[in-house]
Amino acid sequence: MLSKEEVLARLNKAGYESYLVGGFVRDKLMGRESSDIDIATKAHPNQIEEVFKDFKIIDIGKNFGTIRVIGDGQEYEITTFRKDFSYKDKRRPGQVIFADKIETDLERRDFTINALALIDDNLIDPFGGQLDIKEKIIRAVGSPYERISEDYLRALRALRAVRFAANLGFNIEGELQEAIKKNFKNLAYISVERQAAELDKILLGPDPARGIRLLDKVGLLNEIFPEVSAMIGFDQHSPHHYLDCFDHSLKVLEGTPSDLATRLAALFHDTGKPATFFLDEKGQGRFFGHQKISQDLAIERLKYLRYPKKIIEDVSILIGRHMDSSNTYTEKSVARLLRKLGQENIRRLFDLQEADILATVHEDISNINQGRKFLKKILDSKPVLSRKDLAISGRDVIELGFEQGPLVGHILRKIERAVFEENLKNDRDTLLSMARNIGLKLDRKTYE
Ligand code: ATP
Ligand code: MG
Repeated sequence: MLSKEEVLARLNKAGYESYLVGGFVRDKLMGRESSDIDIATKAHPNQIEEVFKDFKIIDIGKNFGTIRVIGDGQEYEITTFRKDFSYKDKRRPGQVIFADKIETDLERRDFTINALALIDDNLIDPFGGQLDIKEKIIRAVGSPYERISEDYLRALRALRAVRFAANLGFNIEGELQEAIKKNFKNLAYISVERQAAELDKILLGPDPARGIRLLDKVGLLNEIFPEVSAMIGFDQHSPHHYLDCFDHSLKVLEGTPSDLATRLAALFHDTGKPATFFLDEKGQGRFFGHQKISQDLAIERLKYLRYPKKIIEDVSILIGRHMDSSNTYTEKSVARLLRKLGQENIRRLFDLQEADILATVHEDISNINQGRKFLKKILDSKPVLSRKDLAISGRDVIELGFEQGPLVGHILRKIERAVFEENLKNDRDTLLSMARNIGLKLDRKTYE
């Protein structure tokens, strides 16, 4: 096992001054564990490779000075001291300039809390990062206006500031907030994948609602999720709601477990409300079919941000069905839902519906708990969840004498439903005789 102490000792012994840096040091000072270890060193990439030639090495950006060393499972990202570099075409880096001193390297880093270096018990803290950790402040290293500007690295800092503030429970220092606000258009320099990666960290973090509010506060929400921003201040005129559409959505978001599909669904579930709103004869707000509009808005936005197909599908299912809990769950309806959605999505749906109800004037989630109870009962009985679990196959139906083709499929579908929703025993003889009966009846209908 190659420990971080050994990594540092090897580099130092070879004559290259080296330090722990970045998130590891920040987290350590906050009393948190961090598995992600970044090391800064005076050694140049070829020299790093030489020092660790007996280990597995991945070149993850030798041109920028970063080498990953893998020592028995633990990875170390080792980066040569360097100066802040500008991005030539605003997206791709131009030339990297290596530096001799750790202080120069710390100067290029984004926030004071990330501009710390540690070797043994010696903390290098030229920008007051330790104090900012204590005071829970995200502050730019140097002038925020210069630090947040036109290129990929600099624009990314805006999203990183929000992410760190939301996930650590910190505030963004005032001038840095202003700088982010003034530069909101620079978001365009960050690839959508990279934007989504930061958003995911915010959404999966301990306080996603705060993250969304911070995005709004620094003027980024309307750029990233305009449909979410459009819910701000939207009065629902509804006796069921005491919050406006935006605050309600954030309360739902807060109420869901840390799961990306569930949280994205929570954020978008009511985005279709403004477009479907009308006042009924009693003067109450109605939103018929809003789930469909919300679904379309979410799909479009998530596609634009290049989310994986599976996530988009799951989010869309959850949004489309978030209103289903207005019907009382029965064992049969849960069984049907389980088969349609699968275990993971039905659980997510219950989580979303629970959070949704708890964010209204109604606080009664007995229907959801009933649904969960039925789900458990069904799963405990080892249900047939798909056609391949049935005790008979299409081949068996054909061997009963029915012609291969649509008829066989039809018979199997009926059997599936009977087994799955009506508790018919999944037993070969039972199913064969049912197949024969259904088949003969259908045959007669068609041919008589
Ligand atoms: P975590 O790994 O918990 O997300 P981290 O602070 O380690 O947090 P990384 O993305 O791993 O974040 O980056 C490592 C370090 O590199 C940061 O602590 C920071 O010092 C520096 N850094 C990363 N991105 C930027 C940037 N866009 N501008 C300036 N410095 C940056
Ligand atoms: Mg890190």
